[in-house]
Amino acid sequence: MAKESHDLELLKSKGFLAQRQDDHFSMRLHTAAGNVSADHLRAMADAAEKFGDGYVHVTSRQGFEIPFVHLGDTEQASEYMTDVGIGPGASGKKVRAVVACQGNRVCKRGLIDCQDVCEKIDAMYFADPVPYKFKIAVTGCPASCLKVQENDFGIMGTMEPQFLEDNCAMCGLCEEACKVDAITITEGNLYLNRDKCILCGDCISACRKDAMQVADEGFTIFIGGKVGKRPRIGNRVLKTVDEAVVFDALEKTLNYYRENAHEGERLGDVIDRCGLEHYGETIKYSLLK
Ligand code: SF4
Ligand code: SF4
Ligand code: SF4
Repeated sequence: MAKESHDLELLKSKGFLAQRQDDHFSMRLHTAAGNVSADHLRAMADAAEKFGDGYVHVTSRQGFEIPFVHLGDTEQASEYMTDVGIGPGASGKKVRAVVACQGNRVCKRGLIDCQDVCEKIDAMYFADPVPYKFKIAVTGCPASCLKVQENDFGIMGTMEPQFLEDNCAMCGLCEEACKVDAITITEGNLYLNRDKCILCGDCISACRKDAMQVADEGFTIFIGGKVGKRPRIGNRVLKTVDEAVVFDALEKTLNYYRENAHEGERLGDVIDRCGLEHYGETIKYSLLK
């Protein structure tokens, strides 16, 4: 059976990515937040044996693909996955599956419920059309296990400290805990460098005298990150905002991207061409410098 281009596009829209081997496809499946139930895992394993080559590939974005599905089996494989409740994964000019770390549901360092935010975003935007690809990641703290700075829209849990000098015993535990040298103690004075601080909250956990307290906590947003042939680290644009702002900024960012992107441009390219100020003015947020 010959691969007509319109067939390839149609198959791609159903999650079947053409392989280098003629008439074979890798079936991409939709998952969000990197979680798959045991039932769905069993169904994927069954499908891999039934329609593929007996194995499941884990993608770089917490997704699953079943390679070596023959062209003649694609329809049946698609129906099989739909029947068990697993839809096709997105590729091409769409919002891709949203990825997340385990956040504060599981990880001791988690500052936000990444899974909750991720599931909500995925339900709202997964596979929506965009000028090119649009990747979203949610990570629970500045350790950034989910590499939010490499995504078009990255969300990070953060906690901002405030120093209460009167409680301080100058013990140095916070200085030791801070991995980015944002705290220095010299001659009985503690200096907290806000430009260096990455809002991890480690100094607050380390302090036994309540001299480092929580000034603010919430979501910090990065935009315009990507990897690939021309990598770009995302810009940190909003700091410790609440969830409502995250959703508002995401909606506005997607609209900005749709209205301003040239053919094939990622959001980071648009920002580089139009300027971060243009983005900030358009979405009506005052951005971090
Ligand atoms: S980013 Fe933070 S919360 Fe998420 S897994 Fe890594 S250490 Fe844990
Ligand atoms: S919040 Fe983190 S980065 Fe900022 S001063 Fe405290 S330990 Fe350092
Ligand atoms: S850990 Fe607390 S008490 Fe010790 S130097 Fe830091 S702020 Fe002061």
